[in-house]
Amino acid sequence: MDDCGEKCGVFGIFAPGYDVAGITHSALWTLQHRGQEGTGIAVSDGEDIHLQKGLGLVTQVYTESGIKELTGHIAVGHNRYATNGSSTLDHVQPVLRHDALVALAHNGNLPDLTKLKVFLQKVGVPVSHSNDSELMADAIRYYYVKGYPIEIAVKKAFPLFVGAFSLVVMTKDSLVVCRDKHGIRPLVIGRFEQDKYIFSSESCVFPIVGAEFEREVHPGELIVIDNLGMRSLQLASGREKLDIFEFVYFARADSMFMGKRVNEVRRNFGRELAREAPVAADVIVAVPDSAFPAAEGFSQESGILVQNGFIKNGYVHRTFIRPEQLSRVKHLHMKLNPIPEVLKDRSVILVDDSIVRGTTTKQLVALIKQAGAKEVHVRISCPPVLYPDFYGIDTPTQKDLLAANKNLQEIAEYIGADSVAFLSYKGMIRATGLPEKVFCTSCFTGKYPISIGKNQKAIKKVVFKE
Ligand code: AMP
Repeated sequence: MDDCGEKCGVFGIFAPGYDVAGITHSALWTLQHRGQEGTGIAVSDGEDIHLQKGLGLVTQVYTESGIKELTGHIAVGHNRYATNGSSTLDHVQPVLRHDALVALAHNGNLPDLTKLKVFLQKVGVPVSHSNDSELMADAIRYYYVKGYPIEIAVKKAFPLFVGAFSLVVMTKDSLVVCRDKHGIRPLVIGRFEQDKYIFSSESCVFPIVGAEFEREVHPGELIVIDNLGMRSLQLASGREKLDIFEFVYFARADSMFMGKRVNEVRRNFGRELAREAPVAADVIVAVPDSAFPAAEGFSQESGILVQNGFIKNGYVHRTFIRPEQLSRVKHLHMKLNPIPEVLKDRSVILVDDSIVRGTTTKQLVALIKQAGAKEVHVRISCPPVLYPDFYGIDTPTQKDLLAANKNLQEIAEYIGADSVAFLSYKGMIRATGLPEKVFCTSCFTGKYPISIGKNQKAIKKVVFKE
């Protein structure tokens, strides 16, 4: 069950006098791309913490009357995505144990639970049925119940957490947030009025809830807000290593990290890619939506027109019944339908942000060819993904990563494309406008800045053959 806590969005707010459940609801709706499997909101009115959570999308889980019932001025919220086998309501966050003292929402993943489990076992807390986020909540709760203020409880538990974590934690009267010492997963601070603060995985939330971008939570930093105001403690010093996959695929294009708008960085990926791997073609088509900026950049650099080649049904999400279980309709086709006039008799450049297993690209190339395209040249706006992610992005094991097992020619054959090219590693870094050292690039380089524990044994060094 260590696969929980993956690919999530978190939000926290401390705002006396405000309807924080409503704001949290809007924020989670905006962060929906970070997790579609379940969602939860915990709110405190200063006396008690109340929780609502459910499986499904934000629009499916909450009702207007339900949100109105969640009265209070402190809240934490979470959207969850997890890999197969663990989509039960029990694992939907925020974690709130039976005594409702501490609510916790976690984005990230702890690949090495040894220290945390040994500690909890020593102090008599059962560990066998809990995932990483629940174990973190238990360790914090242990110190809190002993009488430490919540920020000290988090500080004491912090060294037990080996992995990636952006946490938002609340008690009935305080909100605490913190990031692991490398800041692998993002967490940003917004402000409205003079002294009301919100914390979010991504800044795209701020304009929607009427807040201004304040700054990022620093790696290894803890921030507490209560009736005495806001204080910051530096719990650990570490070099920032934001997961570069946030720029590649994960974050919404209107978010900003380290002063860079994701949309602009993705456009630069496309420009670099067009310089590195040009190809004569009639039209550029992007895989909606995450590849739109890269396709734009490719078009600007190459002078080839970018056109809308697919219509996306924006209402198709991870659902409990997949269409292919009921009929022969493929999930991806249900989501993306090609426009024949854009593709027929044309040589097409298909731009996508990444290839993981290769399933998406293979199916899209086939759809484009069925629509009558003469040639399909696939251009991927990140380098080959050669290593699994252990820090909170859902990727398969190395044996299922296409580029870890095939060379360029074999990939082209597998996906049925006339040619395929990836953005180079150097080109990707250059396109961010930031130094390499500020990023965790583990899925491209196999360099894991934080211990991945026993998972390391299964990792093989791969040299990608062009
Ligand atoms: P795949 O079909 O396995 O090759 O996945 C690549 C496609 O899924 C691309 O179109 C990406 O936009 C998207 N993608 C990349 N990484 C992830 C991820 N961790 N979870 C879900 N989708 C992803």
